[in-house]
Amino acid sequence: MTQRWDSRTRMVHAGVRRSQYGEVSEAIYLTQGFVYDTAEAAEARFLQAGDDEFIYARYGNPTVRMFEDRIASLEGAEDAFATASGMAAVNAALMAPLKSGDHVVSSRALFGSCLYILEEVLPRFGVEVTFVDGTDLDAWRGAIRPGTKMAFLESVSNPTLEVIDIAAVAGIARAVGAMVVVDNVFATPVFSRALSQGADVVVYSTTKHVDGQGRCLGGVVLGTQQFIRKTLEPYLKHTGGAMSPFNAWVMLKGLETLELRVRAQASGAQAIAEALEGHEKLSRVIYPGLPSHPQHAIAAAQMEAGGTVLAIDVKGGQEAAFKVLNALEIFIISNNLGDAKSIVTHPATTTHQRLPDDQKVALGITPGLVRVSVGLEAPADLIADLRAALDVL
Ligand SMILES: *Cc1c(COP(=O)(O)O)cnc(C)c1O
Repeated sequence: MTQRWDSRTRMVHAGVRRSQYGEVSEAIYLTQGFVYDTAEAAEARFLQAGDDEFIYARYGNPTVRMFEDRIASLEGAEDAFATASGMAAVNAALMAPLKSGDHVVSSRALFGSCLYILEEVLPRFGVEVTFVDGTDLDAWRGAIRPGTKMAFLESVSNPTLEVIDIAAVAGIARAVGAMVVVDNVFATPVFSRALSQGADVVVYSTTKHVDGQGRCLGGVVLGTQQFIRKTLEPYLKHTGGAMSPFNAWVMLKGLETLELRVRAQASGAQAIAEALEGHEKLSRVIYPGLPSHPQHAIAAAQMEAGGTVLAIDVKGGQEAAFKVLNALEIFIISNNLGDAKSIVTHPATTTHQRLPDDQKVALGITPGLVRVSVGLEAPADLIADLRAALDVL
């Protein structure tokens, strides 16, 4: 497999490890362990496992390895480690390199569980965490100091879709030798160039676009071979966050169609955002692909398209937002994103319910805000569904 081929070619072929049977579709190696021909072979493998040698599925598995190699090829990363969920990936990317006394600077607008690790877990172990407004480069400059170990950010925040300038933050962090870890779920691996923009480590919840059909949990950490094998792998293989071989197979098949799906979903999101902008029942349409978005230029340069998710703010607050959700016929009410099925979420009462009111205000999570994850249905049907639901008001 060669990196010279286009990503669409690589997502069909990269990472394949064929067995002696020459199967077309990747095999699911649903095995916990591996047999050694001799006691000496077992000893040798424990001393140093070769490229295509496995010991135990918590450490690695051929199907999981195929998925890791394929997504590393897409991201342009030297190596990858797949995990049981997106949060297992975020947790490992933070816990493996950090130790007591370290200082981390993080953007504040984070997925709830990421916020929990940074706000509740790390400080318990003596890691100091400073939160900043991720779109404010002066705030990063003020918070990152000599000795800061890590900068952490979600490149596009949930649910208000602020876009953080990865290259600029990486420049500030690099100046003091801090590593940059990016949770890149909303950008998707299709539109991401985070590593070439200066990120050291990129994390995905593959539950979202990589599966893309609502079946399996999964996550992945991507970075240099040195980081993945020397820092991350020891932590993950001993703490048990491994991806199951079956889920890895689902994710492998997801990668084959990822680019086609994500590009179709992103162009649907763009069409919906353009159709709804200025609608009389909405106070805001937030989508990085709209010129009215405050970081539109950064989004265009950093991720080429606006992504698959937009947010609308319904005039009339929670009551009006609920009426719209309940009137939709195609969109389902759920809390996943990146799925083939279009999904609406009311963050203030679900995913972000536990945030104190002042933090909701600070993060722009208003009572009327609805997150819209655009699926693979015909954009015209989705626009008509949203318009009809807004007409109920
Ligand atoms: C969903 C999500 C996660 C967590 O992923 P899981 O697979 O649900 O554990 C982390 N970060 C972001 C930005 C997400 O959207």
